[in-house]
Amino acid sequence: MNSYKSYSLRNYDQIPRLGKLTRNEKKAIEIVGNVLPFKTNNYVIEQLIDWDNIPEDPIYTLTFPRKEMLLQHHYAKIEKMISANVEKEILDNAVYNIRLELNPHPDGQRYNLPTINGNQLNGIQHKYRETVLFFPSQGQTCHAYCTFCFRWPQFVGMNEIKFAMKETDLLVQYLIEHREVTDVLFTGGDPMIMKTQILSSYIEPLLDDELYNIQTIRIGTKSIGYWPYRFLTDDDADELMRLFEKIVKKGKNLAIMAHFNHPVELSTNAAADAIRRIRSTGAQIRTQSPVLKHINDKPEVWSEMWRKQVNLNCIPYYMFIARDTGAQHFFGIPLVSAWKIFREAYQKVSGVCRTVRGPSMSTTPGKIQVLGVGEVNQDKIIVMRFLQGRNPDWVARPFFAEYDENAIWFDELKPAFGKEKFFFEEELESIFNEHVYDDESENFE
Ligand code: SF4
Repeated sequence: MNSYKSYSLRNYDQIPRLGKLTRNEKKAIEIVGNVLPFKTNNYVIEQLIDWDNIPEDPIYTLTFPRKEMLLQHHYAKIEKMISANVEKEILDNAVYNIRLELNPHPDGQRYNLPTINGNQLNGIQHKYRETVLFFPSQGQTCHAYCTFCFRWPQFVGMNEIKFAMKETDLLVQYLIEHREVTDVLFTGGDPMIMKTQILSSYIEPLLDDELYNIQTIRIGTKSIGYWPYRFLTDDDADELMRLFEKIVKKGKNLAIMAHFNHPVELSTNAAADAIRRIRSTGAQIRTQSPVLKHINDKPEVWSEMWRKQVNLNCIPYYMFIARDTGAQHFFGIPLVSAWKIFREAYQKVSGVCRTVRGPSMSTTPGKIQVLGVGEVNQDKIIVMRFLQGRNPDWVARPFFAEYDENAIWFDELKPAFGKEKFFFEEELESIFNEHVYDDESENFE
């Protein structure tokens, strides 16, 4: 089975296992699917989802809209409009307004678009000194959509906040002007949705000797989890392997930033074969995922996932916190609980799996890791540090927040010890006032 077939709101009634869903579950697909993007495919349906475990199955929850993914009043509003068969324009307008209420642009990404000669580059983000994100315009979709995705506005036609670019020459020019950049991350959507020829047209210019500063090419992708045949039997899979080999032969580090949310994604022969094939080109595979209620909020899920990844020759890299956007109310986990899950999972695995970092939030000032809960003068505090910061000097400096066992995102925390602001806040304001780098978030990521 390797011929790709996708399902969305338009043809979901053709999904082979739809008969396994109740009337209400089908209705939820239609109602939630009007607001948040929905796309799945035949591999996910036939090989990953356990249809005897609906709706709790983690991969079903990962790709199918469930009623609770919308706030109650939002759900009720769209349900009422659809039942009343209102005009499309009225429905679209209500949907648009709900989307605006779901924080479609988390962590200040819109502030981070760099410029060349005064022209804003909408397909590049540059937040951290060494790394530039590139959003190739043909890579702004995925083989299936994750229901928690923070890039969801890109997939529902909110074009005013879509990042995309097809001009490689502008990227090259930018990289020449910014010799401090060593890493380019191709992201989306999923860049592996592109045909090899197109991907190649973006990557080949980066191999030019003139771009001696570029040492690592990263590709953020979920395709090993959602469509491993991309690397095995798609008609240009061999060509793709040759491209990977070429990058490695050129002396660049090629890092596939693979996105796996649950061990079941690593359990198929196709996924294992895809990993083996990618690794045989000399590319590395680093893995990452957010910690998500209803999908992977148990330490044993993470320890199993890291162990499987290492056995398959991948490097566990990040555990993220679900972002403050879209269906965060459904997936979000308090920071303290996320840290406990991380800690327990970390304790269960050997040193080779402990390359993973987390739990980490991609926030406006940078990537903030929750190091844990401590106690000073009998007061509980949350200890954090930057893994990446808009100012590199912030990195690896511990800082403290008042203990709050309910906070699910950084902006809900208060500085500890009666301080008014965290140590970086004033500087952050002046950085915004001067110039802006942008975001190294790898797809949720
Ligand atoms: S998390 Fe990645 S693979 Fe999933 S929908 Fe978002 S961009 Fe696509």
